Amino acid sequence: MNNSAENTNVSLKKYLKRLLLNDHVVLHNFEDCCGSPEEKIMVKTSPAGEEEKEMVSGGSDLDSLEKAVTGCRRCELYRTRNNTVFGAGNRAASIVFIGEAPGRDEDLQGIPFVGRAGKLLDKILEAIGFSRDDIYIANILKCRPPGNRDPKEEEVEACERYLAAQLKSIDPVLICALGRVAAQNLLKTKASLKVLRESEHYYNGIRVVATYHPAALLRNPAYKRPTWEDMKLLRRLHDEALETR
Ligand code: SF4
Repeated sequence: MNNSAENTNVSLKKYLKRLLLNDHVVLHNFEDCCGSPEEKIMVKTSPAGEEEKEMVSGGSDLDSLEKAVTGCRRCELYRTRNNTVFGAGNRAASIVFIGEAPGRDEDLQGIPFVGRAGKLLDKILEAIGFSRDDIYIANILKCRPPGNRDPKEEEVEACERYLAAQLKSIDPVLICALGRVAAQNLLKTKASLKVLRESEHYYNGIRVVATYHPAALLRNPAYKRPTWEDMKLLRRLHDEALETR
């Protein structure tokens, strides 16, 4: 492809992203998922037509990357996995959510964020006007660590090339790191989630918002209020970034 054709394709992709994310304005609330009392937020939904979605969700590079992950043996986790969990969602998404690693259900199904935590994530997304079809979701690791232990440094090192390639291909305006382990490994820091939530971060020039993992919300309802604050920030930053892109 020559430079001019390539630039036209990039502009078209960005135009369509903007179109998808500015079609309707609706009210959503957070009560269903997180019990925030009577708090509401104005958000923009992205009710793309199927044809438009197809036009913005190409990505043969992601297909070949997924094939590479399926056969990957770069770390010891390949020995215990049932399935690799590559990622799922809109391959032209303007926002990417990143968790730490597949759990038991994800390993069995090969899909990220299923089970109770996944259902809660769906409700959180809905509260800020997104659905799984609008976003892309992936993990730091593509294979489940036995017993859901934290990822080892060498496993993260072996696997991070895949996530880096996914993010390069999707080219989102915003990243949401779900939980301490995801945020620390993505941002290469040992800072606590509290510190990470309260400060500004970038991954290869893309703004990162760190928040609690949905599984942590299930264990500790006290995290619901700060998560709602993070989600409002996320939505605002997302919409502002789209305006200026
Ligand atoms: S965790 Fe990543 S690096 Fe390790 S085997 Fe799975 S895909 Fe390969």
